[in-house]
Amino acid sequence: MARYTEADCRMCRREGCKLFLKGDRCYTKKCAFDIRSYAPGQHGQDRKKVSEYGQQLREKQKAKRIYGILERQFHKIFVKAERQPGMTGLNLLILLERRLDNVVYRLGFVSSRSLARQLVTHGHVAVNGKRVDIPSAYVKAGDVITIMEASRKKECFKGLAETLAAKTVPAWLVLDAQNMSGKVDRFPTREEIDVPVAEQSIVELYSK
Ligand code: SF4
Repeated sequence: MARYTEADCRMCRREGCKLFLKGDRCYTKKCAFDIRSYAPGQHGQDRKKVSEYGQQLREKQKAKRIYGILERQFHKIFVKAERQPGMTGLNLLILLERRLDNVVYRLGFVSSRSLARQLVTHGHVAVNGKRVDIPSAYVKAGDVITIMEASRKKECFKGLAETLAAKTVPAWLVLDAQNMSGKVDRFPTREEIDVPVAEQSIVELYSK
């Protein structure tokens, strides 16, 4: 499986904002972006004039890195978004949010999207009672996402119900902490997608 090999914190520094790729660590003093908020490398602190293309490219890279998706798959999602009615940029973000790994992360089962991806590929997640081990699977309104019954006894899930009880989830999801499950009530609105991405720039970049 192809994946990013660049250090997570370098990606935040490259994009010039916190992408929250390392779970709990991102909220501590150890966050590399809080320590050095300039781009990595020898010329990271140089002032550079960014072209329109450069800015559009950065927005696309940022979105890909936040959701942990490589170019080919990201472009496929864009094409799907383009074919849907409505605004392509918003459709793109909604499709990204509907990915199973993202929903597992949004429900608070784990602290980062990369861990959510692992949880899914290792077969710990069920959708409507059936195991689904494809992180890129899209959820629909009404779907119920749970931790597999057999997995709940594992050490890593001990105390999860208590942890979830203290979590707040986005308004488009409904969390049932006690049963380690969550329901997709509806799709999110733009205001409910808290990613720092200018989606219109991505549309403009792909439309060139
Ligand atoms: Fe980014 Fe900071 Fe998290 Fe590293 S710790 S991934 S720099 S937000």
